[in-house]
Amino acid sequence: MREPQPDWLSSRLSKDFVADYKPFVFVDGEGVRCSLYVSGCLFACEGCFNEAAWSFRYGTPYTGALEDRILTDLAHESVQGLSLLGGEPFLNTGVCLQVTRRLRAELGHARDVWAWSGYTFEELLAASADKVELLGMLDVLVDGPFTLAERDLTLPFRGSRNQRVLDVPASLRAGRAVALSRLCRLD
Ligand code: SF4
Repeated sequence: MREPQPDWLSSRLSKDFVADYKPFVFVDGEGVRCSLYVSGCLFACEGCFNEAAWSFRYGTPYTGALEDRILTDLAHESVQGLSLLGGEPFLNTGVCLQVTRRLRAELGHARDVWAWSGYTFEELLAASADKVELLGMLDVLVDGPFTLAERDLTLPFRGSRNQRVLDVPASLRAGRAVALSRLCRLD
């Protein structure tokens, strides 16, 4: 696994490609969700569940037509929210900010936003402005790289014990990581 570097910038790396989009899924967070899998990740975690999506050109370009479809799906009354997965959402902030800004403009906070990242909350707080802005769009962050030595497949919504399920608005208010208490405890 690689340590994140200051020059890991979405503006330099992202090609605005997406690996997949899955509407109405039950596994990527709480409730019925619309899941967008962006392409490109540099963390190179051993045992990564989606190695194909390390390439920033994996899949297809993100388009306005896909975004329209995502917003239409999110408006469905059974949907709880949008999930951003990768690849690495914070190395694809162009796509992730575009869709989350539109979600907030059209649906406000009637839908929640979850994201999975190899970055920790603390790393994101100190990162570039686009990463901080995306962090501020989230309700829930599952943070930290997948660590094979700490793998635990019984944990909800995360693959290894070092990863945390964080309440992002509460964490930003507190200036420190705050667990989503119903799903995760921080020691
Ligand atoms: S951060 Fe996620 S997508 Fe990237 S290598 Fe690690 S497990 Fe795979």
